[in-house]
Amino acid sequence: MKIKLTEVPEEGRSYSWSTETGEANAVLKDIVGSNHYQAEFFIKPLNSRDFDLTGRIVTKTPEICSRCGIDINYPVNEKFHEILIPKQDQPRNSKYSKVNHVSDLPADGPEVSEYENMVFDMGEFLHEIVALAAPFNPACPENVDGKPSDCRIPEEGQLFSYNEEMPVEKPQNPFAVLKNIKLN
Ligand SMILES: [Zn+2]
Repeated sequence: MKIKLTEVPEEGRSYSWSTETGEANAVLKDIVGSNHYQAEFFIKPLNSRDFDLTGRIVTKTPEICSRCGIDINYPVNEKFHEILIPKQDQPRNSKYSKVNHVSDLPADGPEVSEYENMVFDMGEFLHEIVALAAPFNPACPENVDGKPSDCRIPEEGQLFSYNEEMPVEKPQNPFAVLKNIKLN
């Protein structure tokens, strides 16, 4: 779902996309599955070529718990703030050539995304926000609606703890084994 930036008025325009209104259903389907999504955002021209985009998307993304392996729906609630700039000329093999989301800028300021031919691919942008929201090791939430989660391995980091004392094999006296031999 693309946004024609020429249609954004000087005072800006707010958008509300959801499963019900359907704008991004097709593009988000592979990453939210059957979960509901709600995206609210605001686009305002900064000057004749740059646009300010702020907003939030709330949804869930199907993941597999990294502790117990069951299927979970990881909650996503991501705010975003981007400056939309016209696509820059870059070599085809540059690290920015595959995605329109340039993310190696200071974490506290707005990030920068590119648009092409006065059109910004908002659906693709939301897709990437959701894709980046899930952690590398997603896990069942600690509790669900106030009840403890049904994670099969609920203790934090249990699988990854190396603090347990490992059994140490003591070198045995080679003749010790002889003590166990019963002579009939
Ligand atoms: Zn789990």
